[in-house]
Amino acid sequence: TVPRLRPFASTVFAEMTALAGRYDAVNLGQGFPDTDGPPRMLEVAREAIASGLNQYPPGPGMPVLRHAIADDRRRRYGQDFDPDTEVLVTVGATEAISATVLALVEPGDDVLLIEPYYDAYAAAVALAGATRRTVPLVSDGDRFVLDVDALRAAVTPATRMIVVNSPHNPTGTVFSRAELTAIAEVACEHDLIALTDEVYERLVFDDAEHVPLATLPGMADRTITVSSAAKTFNATGWKTGWACGPAPLIAAVKTAKQFLTFVGGAPFQPAVAHALTEEGDWVETLRTDLQRKRDLLSTALTEAGFGVKQSAGTYFVCADIAPLGETDADAFCRALPERIGVVAVPVDAFVDHRESWSTLVRFAFCKQDEVLRDGARRLASVR
Ligand code: PMP
Ligand code: GLN
Repeated sequence: TVPRLRPFASTVFAEMTALAGRYDAVNLGQGFPDTDGPPRMLEVAREAIASGLNQYPPGPGMPVLRHAIADDRRRRYGQDFDPDTEVLVTVGATEAISATVLALVEPGDDVLLIEPYYDAYAAAVALAGATRRTVPLVSDGDRFVLDVDALRAAVTPATRMIVVNSPHNPTGTVFSRAELTAIAEVACEHDLIALTDEVYERLVFDDAEHVPLATLPGMADRTITVSSAAKTFNATGWKTGWACGPAPLIAAVKTAKQFLTFVGGAPFQPAVAHALTEEGDWVETLRTDLQRKRDLLSTALTEAGFGVKQSAGTYFVCADIAPLGETDADAFCRALPERIGVVAVPVDAFVDHRESWSTLVRFAFCKQDEVLRDGARRLASVR
């Protein structure tokens, strides 16, 4: 491995899922659901295969899906993307992220990440030969907020891009309009490109509202918006995502994308188009189910003695292990499968400043109730 990729040899998700297998543990580590998406969506994919939709789709993605993505963003957020020039179908959000960074960042540029950050951002920055700078979320009672002063201080003449993720993996934070406005002001003032990862856009709880960064003043022309079918339709294995943005930026992302994968899987595309167009009620049920599952797991963690943080969205809730007398989340998570048969992920796997995040653990609640209840029973004996 070349030096710049050496830190990325394995991912925390693969490591923790392997431990789950070894100890037959309840896997609350890697974020993937254990139920299928809308039945009609699955059928449309089967029909697509049966009807011979098995060769390369068009480079930017099948028109039916690009139109469905543009219509969806218009309907829900009032955003205006031309499906022919401003929407690009990708192999999951992951490819959209890597292709965006590779296409728009030069070696030597700085990219701002908000810490903790989803691991793929740091790897994409390294692939591009750029340098990441992190801006921390800070604890405010039982929630996390953006340190806006640190954001302003982190910008240098070399800063080219900022990556934003809301709803936020791993903390479950949903940025307020005020936080997003602060990010937008910094981006405009310093002429930064914004990459906004909105894969959990539909999974927000209580009265939280998802505000797309690109809808804020000055942002539409400088933002690549990334999302995916994975979390909205319980289809993490379909690897069907997209990037939306102004035509010149999307053209650049397409240039990189066509040499990463060329195109994505054809039969998934009409199926995801169907889901975006027709499965709004199914997604609303998913959202309310997940909210209830968040409550179930959060209550179990509180009763077990963890210091539980607020989760306003995503699949995840974070909990502090300091009240249990523990001091090292990484060691705690490596021991947990053998100790009580539960897998979770240490948040310090998503950070550069481990000392600030050393006692925080991420638990996934995107699991069937019986799995969560089994996990809850095991967690009760953690002390
Ligand atoms: N971004 C975030 C914040 C994620 O949590 C994930 C993984 N689930 C992804 C991107 C990757 O999405 P996809 O599977 O569509 O590549
Ligand atoms: N996004 C999922 C998570 O955060 C896992 C994706 C992966 O395994 N890379 O758990």
